[in-house]
Amino acid sequence: MSDVRVPLLDLRPQYAGLREEIAEAIQGVLDSQQFVLGPEVEALEAEVAAYSGAAHGVGCASGSDALLLPLMALGVGPGDQVVVPTYTFFSTAGSVYRLGAEPVFADIEPRTYNATPETLARAAERCTRLKAIMPVHLYGQAADVDGIAALGASLGVPVYEDAAQAIGAEDARGRRVGGAGQTACFSFFPTKNLGSFGEGGMVTTDDPDLARELRQLRVHGMEPKYYHAKVGLNARLHALQAAVLRVKLRHLEPWQEARRRNASHYDELFRNAGARTSAVPLAEGGLPLRVPAIPEEPVRHVFNQYVVRVPAERRDALRAHLTEHRIGSEIYYPVPLHLQECFRELGGKPGDLPESEAAARETLALPIFPELEKRQREHVAATIVDFLS
Ligand SMILES: *Cc1c(COP(=O)(O)O)cnc(C)c1O
Repeated sequence: MSDVRVPLLDLRPQYAGLREEIAEAIQGVLDSQQFVLGPEVEALEAEVAAYSGAAHGVGCASGSDALLLPLMALGVGPGDQVVVPTYTFFSTAGSVYRLGAEPVFADIEPRTYNATPETLARAAERCTRLKAIMPVHLYGQAADVDGIAALGASLGVPVYEDAAQAIGAEDARGRRVGGAGQTACFSFFPTKNLGSFGEGGMVTTDDPDLARELRQLRVHGMEPKYYHAKVGLNARLHALQAAVLRVKLRHLEPWQEARRRNASHYDELFRNAGARTSAVPLAEGGLPLRVPAIPEEPVRHVFNQYVVRVPAERRDALRAHLTEHRIGSEIYYPVPLHLQECFRELGGKPGDLPESEAAARETLALPIFPELEKRQREHVAATIVDFLS
């Protein structure tokens, strides 16, 4: 057996190249003894907003808070409904539910795994008190921002984008996510393309009044000090995380390009072995492997995840085979949100959102982190092709 090991994600090589720069940034915060919000956070807000093409950035404690705060600003509460994709990380829907409102789930399309204007519209038709639409740019690929904005406008509700996995992704018009819509949420969880040394998040928006309100809500709705016109929460970003993120942001573009190069290399290896893209259903034959369609420019997929698809009855065996060959993988996500136990009272049933349910049975995420070596990519591809052939 090959002695190549391929973890799903290894953050150590990235850190090794940044040790000194990061130590210096952290030392600066320690010397200032300013740990919460403050100049490092403000500088990061300006830099992430500029990177994303937005006017304002509001740093907060996590990506989950960056989803929650705009909903709180809008006054979403009991009886209200917000449309979200069912095939996403939990917090997209959790942010709605914890405000007492109802997440109404939309299906995805199988080529990109994103919800579309059509699937979101179908979910919106089931709503009587729709307050917002929250599309997700899944795996690092922009959803149809224009089509979804038009849907929001026609229904008279805002669109709050979940861009937690997609910092730096560009849409069909070449615009960065976070710069085109009403708000976008970013996460700085360590596994994201721009990861902190713990937790962190940001909301971007072009609306100065909304930005002010979000800043107020992240400190218990306080403005001025100890006067509270609204009930918010403690959702502040730490200065140490901001200092680390500012260093990493300066290196983000080469990492994005490395992820894209890794994806192109996998694409070549898998397609040469007979795999087809996710645009072609598994039922149409060929090697029983579907790889992400690499979008044409100006679309920029930043591959937070590289997710392939195999027949449901072979997926878990493939995963075990990879583990045996020291290759990390993960299932994002095994249970669509409309079938989660905690949402049972909402009445979701198997069969309701078939594309998401099929994706949950058939997808597998492979190692894609920027520092992945050529021989590691070759080992991953060869091991998978060998198993499926
Ligand atoms: C990571 C993630 C979040 C939440 O971000 P945290 O920083 O972990 O709170 C929200 N939505 C999606 C799609 C994510 O991948």
